[in-house]
Amino acid sequence: MVYINDNYLKLKAGYLFPEIARRVKAFTEQNPQANIIRMGIGDVTEPLPQVCIQAMHQAVDEMAHRQTFKGYGPEQGYDFLRQAIAQNDFQSRGAPITPDEIFVSDGSKCDCANILDILGNQNVIAVTDPVYPVYVDTNVMAGHTGQADASGEYAGLVYMRATSENNFVPAIPEQKVDVIYLCSPNNPTGAVFSRQQLTAWVDYARNNKALILFDAAYEAFISDPTIPHSIYEIDGATECAVEFRSFSKTAGFTGTRCAFTVIPKSLQGHTRSGETVDLWRLWNRRHTTKFNGVSYIIQKGAEAVYSDAGRQQIRSLIDHYMTNARLIRESLEQSGLKVFGGINAPYCWVQTPNQTRSWDFFDHLLHKAHVVCTPGSGFGSAGEGYVRFSAFNSRENVQQAMKRVTSCL
Ligand SMILES: *Cc1c(COP(=O)(O)O)cnc(C)c1O
Repeated sequence: MVYINDNYLKLKAGYLFPEIARRVKAFTEQNPQANIIRMGIGDVTEPLPQVCIQAMHQAVDEMAHRQTFKGYGPEQGYDFLRQAIAQNDFQSRGAPITPDEIFVSDGSKCDCANILDILGNQNVIAVTDPVYPVYVDTNVMAGHTGQADASGEYAGLVYMRATSENNFVPAIPEQKVDVIYLCSPNNPTGAVFSRQQLTAWVDYARNNKALILFDAAYEAFISDPTIPHSIYEIDGATECAVEFRSFSKTAGFTGTRCAFTVIPKSLQGHTRSGETVDLWRLWNRRHTTKFNGVSYIIQKGAEAVYSDAGRQQIRSLIDHYMTNARLIRESLEQSGLKVFGGINAPYCWVQTPNQTRSWDFFDHLLHKAHVVCTPGSGFGSAGEGYVRFSAFNSRENVQQAMKRVTSCL
């Protein structure tokens, strides 16, 4: 007889994106001529930067010749990429990260999930509400929670509320927690941590010997020069934080797949009996045992992002999306809605009019404007009364969608 991991049965069935797909499908079956604009997706729409394409073409040609052919590469990533990352993303900002602390992977989503492999089961886990669902569901799968209640909250997790009262930057919990997931710039709210707020979290983590899992997938979208791009810009963070980064949103790699995780050598965890163990050693062991590296071709494409031309091309890609974000924010504000985010992140977090429930407002926009947004309640109970608009789209779609949405408010 085969036993299953019955933690999977605790996962809530009505997951957000399948439910959106179901409602859109039902509507288009009834209204086949409706031209639906999707403003809900967290996926990029514009093609890869030219520098990445050229670098990848060249790398393919290298694979065609015995002299330059590459088989297995280092599991942690090629030195050329780890050095470019350490130099450009960290050292240039005064963050003391070295190339051997960078682990190149095929995605931040998997890294966020895989990190649980090296952490104990007795940790008290804190997540924000609203939250990127991956943090919660992977803890459910790992058996770190009890059952979900009617509102979808799992027993055993500590939920830190992000609301308009705290500008969507949750307060530090009063109780002691061991592992804290933070995402800045935030998906879904678009909020960012200031240097001062992030410093307070680092101080909390150090005082409580806690670990911060810092997801900076959207750091390239920060426009305010005072906002930290990396948690390692904060003193002491190399002793209490792991950082997840990805080329997905920065360079349009969602379908190409390249990301990295930073595990500082000075990070430590504890055994049951209280001895300290370097997390780097455990992660290196996990990564080299369970992963065989990102394709050479893709890593060459990622390296090109750091060239002069690469930086310029990334900049114009991000400018395109952030102009969309501004158009969304301005149109909706002019129609009297309350809009958060959209300045340092490609997401606008929009309060529904007259306290309409998220799913009701979603249905209204789908039926009346033929526009798809993401109901905020799908990210947690504190998201009720909000919807998320994504700036990942063509300019034409954004303009058209805003015309339609504002005329049916
Ligand atoms: C898109 C996204 C990522 C990136 O995931 P990949 O697996 O690298 O594509 C990570 N975190 C958040 C919050 C995201 O929205």
